[in-house]
Amino acid sequence: MSAFVNVNGRISDGEHAAISVFDHGFVYGEGVYETIRTYNGEPFLFDRHLQRLRRSAEMILLDVPFGDDEFLRRAIDTMAAARLGHRGHEPAAEAYIRILLTRGIGDLTYDPAATPSPSLVIIVKPLPVPAASEFERGVKVCMVDIIRNHPRSVNPLIKSNNLLNNALGMQQALRKGGVEGVFRNYRGELSECSQSNLFVVKGGVVRTPPLDAGLLAGITRQFVFELGKSVGVKVEEALLKDRDLFDADEAFFTSTTKELMPIVQVDEHTIGTGTPGQITKKLLAEFRRRANEMTLARA
Ligand code: PMP
Repeated sequence: MSAFVNVNGRISDGEHAAISVFDHGFVYGEGVYETIRTYNGEPFLFDRHLQRLRRSAEMILLDVPFGDDEFLRRAIDTMAAARLGHRGHEPAAEAYIRILLTRGIGDLTYDPAATPSPSLVIIVKPLPVPAASEFERGVKVCMVDIIRNHPRSVNPLIKSNNLLNNALGMQQALRKGGVEGVFRNYRGELSECSQSNLFVVKGGVVRTPPLDAGLLAGITRQFVFELGKSVGVKVEEALLKDRDLFDADEAFFTSTTKELMPIVQVDEHTIGTGTPGQITKKLLAEFRRRANEMTLARA
C-alpha cells in the first residue's frame, strides 16, 4: 500500500507510521475523521469537510487546537511526500486524504483530563476509484438487519472513528453480494448506507431521508441538492420506507469517493429498468462537471 502518513506533524511512509496503543482513538474509538479527495490535484470542498470535522469534534467534546490553515498545510505536505494529487507532480494521480483527530494519548480512563492533546493523523494514498463499469451498469446493494445508531447513542451526525456498526452492516451486505448495505433506523425507516447516503427517484423527483432519520450529513448529499437546482431537478428530503426504494424508478448512493453511484438492484428487487436512470446520470454528469470546474479554477 503506497500510503504516506502524517502523525502529529511527522511524515513517514505507511509502513513506518505509528501511534501509541494508549491513544484513546485506538483503545476507545474516541475520535472523528474526514475523507476528502482531490480533483485536478486540488482537495475538493476542503472547507466543508473541515467544518464537519469541527462539528463532529464538538459533539464528542473534543477541542480542536488547529486552525484550518494548519489542516490544509499538513494535508498538502503529506500529499507532496506521497507525490500525489497536488499540482506540480506529473502524472497527477488523484489523492485520497483521510484526516483523523483522536482524543490523544493518556491513561486508561474515560476522563478527558487524562488526554490533554489530541492526535492528528493524515493518511494520503492514491485515490481508489470505482470501475467505470460500475457507473455504466450500476451496482447491487443489500438491506441489512443491523440498525443505524439511534441518534441518542453514537449520533450518526458524528463522523466518528468508532465505525463498528457501519463495518458490521457492510459485512452483511458483502456476504449477500452487495457493494453497499442499506440501514434502517430504529423506527424502521430508511436512513443511509454503511459509507454513503441513499437517494431514490420517483416520478422525476429525487428524495433522500432527512437528517432526523439518523444519518451522516454527507458533503456529497448536500451537493446533490445544489446540483438539482442547477439542472432543474427537484431534490427533497422525505421519510422513506423499504417500498420507496424497491419501487423507485431510479436509486443511487453518494459519497466523496464514489460520487453518485447508480443502484440497479436491492437484494432480489430490480430498480426501474435495471440500468442507471436518466436523472441519476444527469446529476452525476453535472457533479463531475462542477467538481472539475471548481478545482481547475483554483489549480
Ligand atoms: N454516510 C456514512 C455513514 C459515511 O461514512 C459516508 C462517507 N463519509 C457518507 C454517508 C457520505 O459522506 P460524504 O459525501 O461526505 O463522503
